[in-house]
Amino acid sequence: MPKLIEHVFARPVEVGPGILRVTLPLPSGPRHVHCFLLKDEDGWTLVDTGLGLDEPAWGEILEQVDGPVARIFVTHMHPDHVGGAEAAAAATGAPVFQGRLDYAQCELVWGTDGWPEQLAEWLVRYGVPVDVAEELIESGHVFADFVRFAWNPTLVEPGDEVGGWRVLATPGHADGHLSLLRDGVLVAGDTLLAPITPAIGLYPNSRPDPLGDYLQTLRAIAELDPHVSYGGHGETIAEPAERAREIAVHHDERLDRTAAALGAEPKNGYDVSHVLFGSTLPPIQRRFAVAETLSHLERLVVLGRARRREDDLTVSYTAA
Ligand SMILES: [Zn+2]
Repeated sequence: MPKLIEHVFARPVEVGPGILRVTLPLPSGPRHVHCFLLKDEDGWTLVDTGLGLDEPAWGEILEQVDGPVARIFVTHMHPDHVGGAEAAAAATGAPVFQGRLDYAQCELVWGTDGWPEQLAEWLVRYGVPVDVAEELIESGHVFADFVRFAWNPTLVEPGDEVGGWRVLATPGHADGHLSLLRDGVLVAGDTLLAPITPAIGLYPNSRPDPLGDYLQTLRAIAELDPHVSYGGHGETIAEPAERAREIAVHHDERLDRTAAALGAEPKNGYDVSHVLFGSTLPPIQRRFAVAETLSHLERLVVLGRARRREDDLTVSYTAA
């Protein structure tokens, strides 16, 4: 990351009136994830829970906070947000709230044994070599052990209220991603980040055009024009509408680069990911690169700028 935020692990830091940020370490990626504590009359709402790695010391963290955690809210089912939910619920006795669609996908991915195999098989259809896909199966199973989500949470829908905050649908980074909004303050999970941009990937059983969903979400945020936004990684965003527009431009540019990589000869998502992200990525990062490439290719198909060709074994794309 170009400008590193101060990593203060496990010590709640006040970042706004009645808003505390708890930063937990991650073994990879941005190396940290932010959880938030939002003050309400009956206690705190904990937003997101980190990984289930090394048992986050929720008891110790929350000792430093005045008052009980009344509820836990999960923005989306990615490991670094939902993985510590079981531990956080056990430490606080608080109920867990999660989106209906998001929880369904959470159970499908983390609650069943065969997900890494299913993902690998799907990636091979998009051109990922079998040996790369096999390595992903192995690491997928290792990783799944650190995702201890809370079974049977209270399911919420966009428009509901949780702890005095309005639940907002913000699909794109995850199909069922939810954010919280109150008095112009947005707690955005991984929907709006700075300085990194959220990953927008296509996955098996996901909605067909996640980038289209995400660009719509960015437009909605720009229109909503909140005065501050707190994201799951990186910095607090003082001008959310501006940041939403910046990220939309970033994807427009990447769409153009993706379109430029296509021609009359069919290319698969793996090939195009090399054009966009280079050829030296290790398997786990290649997986994200292919998923991100596919979300852009599928967006181009929707826009009529690319064509998808599909047979029993492979999916490939040509210029339209
Ligand atoms: Zn995420």
